[in-house]
Amino acid sequence: METIQCMEEADKVLMQTYNRYPIVLEKGEGVYLYDKDGNQYLDFASGIAVFALGYGNQEFNHALKEQIDKLLHTSNLFYNHPAVEAAGKLAKASGMDRVFFTNSGAEAIEGAIKLARKYYYKKYQRADSEIIAMNHSFHGRSIGALSITGTKKYRDPFEPLMGGVNFAEFNNLESVKALISKKTAAIILEPIQGEGGLHPATKEFIRGVERLCKEQDILLILDEIQCGMGRSGEMFAFQQYGVKPDILTSAKALGCGVAVGAFAAREKVAEAFDLGDHGTTYGGNPFATTAVSKVFDLFEEEQILTHVKKVAPYLSEKLQGLYHKYDCITDHRGIGLMQGLEFAFPVKDIISKAMQRGLILIFAGPNVLRFLPPLIITKAHVDEMITILDQCIAEVRNENKQMDRN
Ligand SMILES: *Cc1c(COP(=O)(O)O)cnc(C)c1O
Repeated sequence: METIQCMEEADKVLMQTYNRYPIVLEKGEGVYLYDKDGNQYLDFASGIAVFALGYGNQEFNHALKEQIDKLLHTSNLFYNHPAVEAAGKLAKASGMDRVFFTNSGAEAIEGAIKLARKYYYKKYQRADSEIIAMNHSFHGRSIGALSITGTKKYRDPFEPLMGGVNFAEFNNLESVKALISKKTAAIILEPIQGEGGLHPATKEFIRGVERLCKEQDILLILDEIQCGMGRSGEMFAFQQYGVKPDILTSAKALGCGVAVGAFAAREKVAEAFDLGDHGTTYGGNPFATTAVSKVFDLFEEEQILTHVKKVAPYLSEKLQGLYHKYDCITDHRGIGLMQGLEFAFPVKDIISKAMQRGLILIFAGPNVLRFLPPLIITKAHVDEMITILDQCIAEVRNENKQMDRN
């Protein structure tokens, strides 16, 4: 199928929930993607923080191919070895005690909400628990996850949603305190807000929230679906802050391209689930968990964390350079290989121009460019990206100036 034909067909058969970029991607290698017409793109999006190890890692692909020939799925009515191994590695890397595998991030969030509610229910024998979430947070599109997502526009058309949710101001500890009641079962937040515009939590805030939780036996749920798995320079971003959640959610880079998510918890919390309280048909299947297991192995073999710690300051320095060069860039923020530039105007024209020049970038809110490269990028890739981006910003800025004059 030709490129145009594919796009036209997609507009007919797929539900129209995405404004897709006019590219039909076909294959990937390292940090580059290729479309059907053979054009090459330097990828600074990683399929939204998924391809931490880049594309076409032979060891990873080989492990998956081997597992395909053995067994793809067992259901959770039986044991399977890859799931046990993967759970052990995730538990060890996160300091959590028990793991439940899901097929997506949203499902991991659903499980985390259920576990927090069950913990509260067992403790107080009451079914009136509440959750505190943050403004501008993003936790997924299913009804439960949407209910705790802090963007009203995403929620409004789908009301009535799950009740008992209150929204605090991110990085404002007093606003969290003000919402705590005897019904508060959990506080959920992303250590680095992704979709909401690349806002890292301050140390004071996240530590303050942890302290409030400890004092009142409220569960701290950290959503590391986007900021986890090495992106911050630590395996999980909370390790940067010196805090520890009661429940952790992971997905995206957890499978590096294979659909898988997980929620993990401390023993005393995980104990709240009784037999039959939660389930999934596909979750934790041997194919997806082979991917998870291999991802952890490769992170170690390729010393991904050490690499991120080396290359991220370089990316930061270069983005800071653009921030100082252009008045139209109003902020530069982020941690590790999860950074953003905020502009005085929408960034969609910059993204289109970059794409025409072979660079894939995405946004996080209309005015924020989001940088989520594969974790294996080198300084040379950063330079390549910055050169293209610099040209695109200059062009768009000049076009905007001309429009202002007319
Ligand atoms: C992407 C994302 C989700 C939802 O994950 P899906 O796999 O798309 O369901 C939840 N939380 C955060 C922080 C995310 O970035």
